[in-house]
Amino acid sequence: WNQFAKTRKHSVSFYAMDTPITLTAYGPRGKRALSLARARVKQIESELSVTDPCSDVGRLNAAGGAPVPVGEDTTTLTAFALRMNTLTGGAFDPTLYPVLRAWGFTTEERRVPSDGELAKLLRFAGAEHVHLDGRMLRLDEGSMLDLGAVGKGFAGDEALAVMAAAGVESALVNLGGNVQTLGLRPDGQRWRIGVKSPDGGLIGVLRAEAEAVVTSGGYERFFTGPDGRIYWHILDPRTGAPARSGVISATAVGSEGKICDAMSTAFFVMGAEKTAAFWKERGGPGFVLLTEDGELWISEDLNARFAVDP
Ligand code: ADP
Ligand code: MG
Ligand code: MG
Repeated sequence: WNQFAKTRKHSVSFYAMDTPITLTAYGPRGKRALSLARARVKQIESELSVTDPCSDVGRLNAAGGAPVPVGEDTTTLTAFALRMNTLTGGAFDPTLYPVLRAWGFTTEERRVPSDGELAKLLRFAGAEHVHLDGRMLRLDEGSMLDLGAVGKGFAGDEALAVMAAAGVESALVNLGGNVQTLGLRPDGQRWRIGVKSPDGGLIGVLRAEAEAVVTSGGYERFFTGPDGRIYWHILDPRTGAPARSGVISATAVGSEGKICDAMSTAFFVMGAEKTAAFWKERGGPGFVLLTEDGELWISEDLNARFAVDP
């Protein structure tokens, strides 16, 4: 009986943060922990959603330059996003929303804006337009905040923290392909986490203990333009156009979901050479990159536990 209770699997699936989410917890505390974790994810969604006019971010973006009081999650994650912007030399940029809107990625009306339109909108982008003062957030007029590239990683961290606090020792969350784990599998083995390839198959499988494995891909949200080219939702902050670094899938592997989420987006923008140099210089998170030429770039720290799918 004890053994059964220890390995018993509980699972809940729902849709939030614009993506399908599954939370899985093992053991006798699992069921209660899942409902707490689900509530925490929903709470984070209601604070950070850029499309919800009542969220912290929604109210901020509609404030026309006025200061707005926001909650602790929003200030924490905004401060974090600004740090990541600096750390990545601007590749990660949480202020691209005016540009993203022009591409129609926020609606179903996709279009290719002119260079002139992009140049105009890029004037509103840049971390210098975000002013954080305690619990007050203010944007320069016309600028907008978008924490979409870190929100799911943060929500994964929080979901696992809530479950750990509720006494769960073994759990796995999947937020739209971001996989994050707590502890080991209930059988004491390491988790086996698949890294998806753009063609729907697997690039390979990673053996992991508590870890976050987060992928940014140009194949997740995209449209085909009138010129036959593919346009995706991860933008190069220098041009305002979809990032074309040669990388078509960037996975970041590390202990913290929000770091991996931010860095997978940044790696996608930076491209393979810059990512490898960044990793050498600063260390973690680890990376698995697939380029459009079919090259696979894997950071050395992952070599021993990443098995490439033959
Ligand atoms: P996904 O949301 O598909 O998991 P990402 O984590 O890479 O992918 O986040 C992409 C989202 O982040 C975009 O939909 C957009 O809202 C925003 N974004 C686009 N380009 C950037 C960028 N260079 N830096 C930060 N956020 C970005
Ligand atoms: Mg991201
Ligand atoms: Mg993501």
